Amino acid sequence: MSNMTLEETKALIQEVLEAYPDKARKDRAKHLAANDQSVEQSKKCIISNRKSQPGVMTIRGCAYAGSKGVVWGPIKDMVHISHGPVGCGAYSRAGRRNYYTGHTGVNTFGTMNFTSDFQEKDIVFGGDKKLEKLIDEIEQLFPLVKGVSVQSECPIGLIGDDIEAVAKKKTKEHGKPVVPVRCEGFRGVSQSLGHHIANDAIRDHVLGNRDDQAFESTPYDVAIIGDYNIGGDAWSSRILLEEMGLRVVAQWSGDGTLPEMELTPKVKLNLIHCYRSMNYISRYMEEKYSIPWMEYNFFGPTKIAESLRKIAAFFDETIQANAEKVIEKYQAEYEAVIAKYRPRLEGKKVMLYVGGLRPRHVIGAYEDLGMEVVGTGYEFAHNDDYDRTIKEVDNATLLYDDVTGYEFEEFVKRVKPDLIGSGIKEKYIFQKMGVPFRQMHSWDYSGPYHGYDGFAIFARDMDMTVNNPCWNSMQAPWLKPAAAETEATAASA
Ligand code: SF4
Repeated sequence: MSNMTLEETKALIQEVLEAYPDKARKDRAKHLAANDQSVEQSKKCIISNRKSQPGVMTIRGCAYAGSKGVVWGPIKDMVHISHGPVGCGAYSRAGRRNYYTGHTGVNTFGTMNFTSDFQEKDIVFGGDKKLEKLIDEIEQLFPLVKGVSVQSECPIGLIGDDIEAVAKKKTKEHGKPVVPVRCEGFRGVSQSLGHHIANDAIRDHVLGNRDDQAFESTPYDVAIIGDYNIGGDAWSSRILLEEMGLRVVAQWSGDGTLPEMELTPKVKLNLIHCYRSMNYISRYMEEKYSIPWMEYNFFGPTKIAESLRKIAAFFDETIQANAEKVIEKYQAEYEAVIAKYRPRLEGKKVMLYVGGLRPRHVIGAYEDLGMEVVGTGYEFAHNDDYDRTIKEVDNATLLYDDVTGYEFEEFVKRVKPDLIGSGIKEKYIFQKMGVPFRQMHSWDYSGPYHGYDGFAIFARDMDMTVNNPCWNSMQAPWLKPAAAETEATAASA
């Protein structure tokens, strides 16, 4: 049960909307809703994937962030050039904590920053020559690199550089894929279009590369798609699939490689964790190579068991029996985690605001610990994400799409959650307000959270955040009495 009735949630939304001028109010009203499980299609209650209102504090990223930061960046044996001025690459470097193995700077490049560092003259006269030189230097300095992707920042599209021609020329000269990605930040309304553009570039420049090559396949070949190995997530997922007897041929894109991507069309089943960022390529492989795909959820024991059984049902009885054995093997372990943490977390309310899959995927893990998600929303969802969310949360739960800074703060003041799970941009505001907070994009420097191993860490992290004594000892700086503030300023002067 949500802690508010349907009427109360609707009234809260109306009250928060009051602060906006007419036009903005009308627009934002479409993005806020009280959940109604009877609705079959979410577009009847919430609108998503629309341009943010000018003047509001949106938390979204850009198309470049979606392509370089999410889809391409973690492919570790390629160099991903942030093509354009230096800032976009510098500020997006290694921020998502995509763990990988290998020797950085020798055969892996995940945490390095490569940029064409555009200057004024490149904007005026074009940067294609500079890009060519950069690709040659990369080949010279890092001979083990398997390929290069060119991640376009805004100016590249604006000045009309022909990165496709450069990529074609250099692919031929070096005999390695050079992939042009037209993910300029101004495209689309959020990072979501960047995911799509990145998927399309993989389709056009990677997937068919080994179509004519022989491959020793097994009936149990699968690919993990849309796991970015944040804090080791894909590793703790892969263990379970392998223990079931499946062979993981490819892992996209956390700790992933170019050969793995090229071999994916040979698998029997694509397993998708982040549907939002990778559904495009999975649908393409279904169409071109007849590979079925299936969504799964490895957050928390309830969803893990459900997913393992769903995956196993695709295969024979041996795999199905193995799935049961895997669930049984970890039972004592996850029951002990629940026995330890559930009494400390039971009944605690959570508000989420995250990206691709987490606003709905982590709900089960919180429920395993006796916690309740009372509000959730996505930065860059489409309506098929909300279609999937409606059934996961109770009626009257607050739903917010592309929530603004103002709305989120007001909702939190009224709903009074015991925990907020969101990103770095929200973290310090809510912490200063005295509300326990976890970063649910990067796991707050912790993780993994996927799989049974990840659940133990997830439960520990939620407990140490919610039950940390510091929250009762602090007062938001803006609520401190003015006199005390003046005294403090005088004393420090
Ligand atoms: S919007 Fe453009 S300039 Fe800004 S980070 Fe994205 S690519 Fe770079």
